[in-house]
Amino acid sequence: MSEIKFTADVMLGGFVRLMRMLGYDVLYDKNSKIEELIERSRKEGRILITKRRRYRFPQDLKVVVLSENYPHEQVQKVLNIHSLTPSKEKFLSRCLICNELLEEASREEVRSKVPEFVYRTHEEFARCPVCGRIYWEGTHHQNMGKMVEMFFKK
Ligand SMILES: [Zn+2]
Repeated sequence: MSEIKFTADVMLGGFVRLMRMLGYDVLYDKNSKIEELIERSRKEGRILITKRRRYRFPQDLKVVVLSENYPHEQVQKVLNIHSLTPSKEKFLSRCLICNELLEEASREEVRSKVPEFVYRTHEEFARCPVCGRIYWEGTHHQNMGKMVEMFFKK
């Protein structure tokens, strides 16, 4: 079974960030027109997440129309509808900006790209192959963990 993938409509930036933190593949481009989003969702087998209630979506497209306004509620709704249980292993496995899967990076590779104290105090780093952003398990990481811990199975 291939992994579930989504496309998010405009105005869903908060939703997208949380879903990516949880490790889900969510395509998002604020500048895309709805027709483009539909086209890409179809081509790539993605489920379109939107807030457009009146739009007539093609019959063969998988769509979730949200009425929720808060990102946490939106995420919960989508997880419920598709019976998804986020796994802690997937937490921060994806770049929050690009949606790309992160790669492991060695301490030496990231040395010049992270603050000195971070380099000294951390062993494990991950890097986005697209934008080059470096991720590590620091305070920022922990704060994001708190933002999404309600979604993990107890
Ligand atoms: Zn990136």
